[in-house]
Amino acid sequence: MADQAFNPFEMAQRQFDGVAEKLGLDSGTREFLRVPLREFHFSIPVRMDNGSTRVFRGFRVQHNDSRGPAKGGIRFHPHETIDTVRALATWMTWKTAVVDIPLGGGKGGVICDPRELSEKEQEQICRGFIRQIAKNIGPLQDVPAPDVMTNKQHMLWMMDEYEHIMGAQFPGVITGKPVGMGGSLGRTEATGYGVVYTTREALKEIGIDMKGATVSIQGSGNVAQYTLDLLEQSGARVCAISCWDNKDKKAYTYASDAGIQFAQLLASVDKFGTIDPAKAKEYGWKQLDGSAWIEQPVTVLVPAAQENMINADNVEKIKDSVKLIAEGANGPTTPEADAVIQRKKIFLVPDFLCNAGGVTCSYFEQVQNNMNYYWERDEVLTKLDQKMTNAFKAVSAMAKERNVYMRDAAYMISIKRVADACRLRGWV
Ligand code: NAD
Repeated sequence: MADQAFNPFEMAQRQFDGVAEKLGLDSGTREFLRVPLREFHFSIPVRMDNGSTRVFRGFRVQHNDSRGPAKGGIRFHPHETIDTVRALATWMTWKTAVVDIPLGGGKGGVICDPRELSEKEQEQICRGFIRQIAKNIGPLQDVPAPDVMTNKQHMLWMMDEYEHIMGAQFPGVITGKPVGMGGSLGRTEATGYGVVYTTREALKEIGIDMKGATVSIQGSGNVAQYTLDLLEQSGARVCAISCWDNKDKKAYTYASDAGIQFAQLLASVDKFGTIDPAKAKEYGWKQLDGSAWIEQPVTVLVPAAQENMINADNVEKIKDSVKLIAEGANGPTTPEADAVIQRKKIFLVPDFLCNAGGVTCSYFEQVQNNMNYYWERDEVLTKLDQKMTNAFKAVSAMAKERNVYMRDAAYMISIKRVADACRLRGWV
């Protein structure tokens, strides 16, 4: 999804190889875990509103299901690639393991741009995706969810198509559904809130008060919005936020020393997380170049847009004021940038721990679907906070015990859990 030379799957494999070496993992288990268990590639024909037929390519990758059904989102993006989906499926395996929920790792994608498709065309893509994959997903096999540029409505169309095919109610086939239609309260804000729960714990560790801490966020979509929401409620100030403007085909950063407020952000973004420049002007936010988010003199950086956003070209631009990077996005930091972050002694909450709030709440959604009994929002968020805090503490303890980078510590916990499950099952 980023530049041609960047391959997220190679990056995911490099991260894995480094930790497998540190863990002394045997060669068979390494070979088994560095690639997905299975993947599906298919075509989805769509009758366009103008009467023509267009064919969209779809993918579903199940990286590992030794600890439970595969779990992971479906993304709609014009630059989606199978290697991006493979990388994200792999990270889902480590993510479900690090928060210790009984699920594996999967991911899906369709090469399409929903910003340029009508609702009817998008519905056909959703239903077509399920028709191709229905036999290979399900509450006991693989459970999709929303991700970049997919939403509750897409999930509901997908669930409906699956139920048509199976001839029965299956709310647990997919998560991220609307509340009242099998969705869980708290799911919309779960990923962003999870970013803040781990940020809170990290700030405690490095002795910085959340109240008054300043933050710059890359992205203005679901994760960024709810990260900002809880940061604001916790007394921190978000001084800059960025987005991709699809009309201008470039990114912008919006900065405000007084702080960007959640209510203003919600009033200024469209459903794809693009900030309306006129609204930004009305609120007095300064419009800067898209790359400016990383150069802000703040305490915390939150990349919450997409992969490969902190890399060898821009990592040195991070100011000395930055003490923490909380990775809301998946794969935002390249291994080259990781080396610099370690040298600068910036504390890092790695992606598959930091943004695990979404999948944890998706797991709660499935539990509620299975019981056909739904919890109050507070109950969901309290359970989410407990899971995220426990996971953070375990990773941080491992980092101290083994004297390793937080990303490596998170990998050590996850890889060990997954490798043990594969071994116990007799797979390796
Ligand atoms: P989204 O589609 O709601 O928002 C993405 C945001 O990133 C948009 O505001 C877009 O304008 C912005 N963006 C894209 N390219 C940009 C660029 N070059 N510069 C600045 N901004 C840019 O997506 P989301 O759900 O918020 O997901 C964001 C990231 O978090 C992704 O990496 C996703 O995989 C990850 N994630 C999401 C969830 C979830 O529950 N939504 C869970 C875990 C991880």
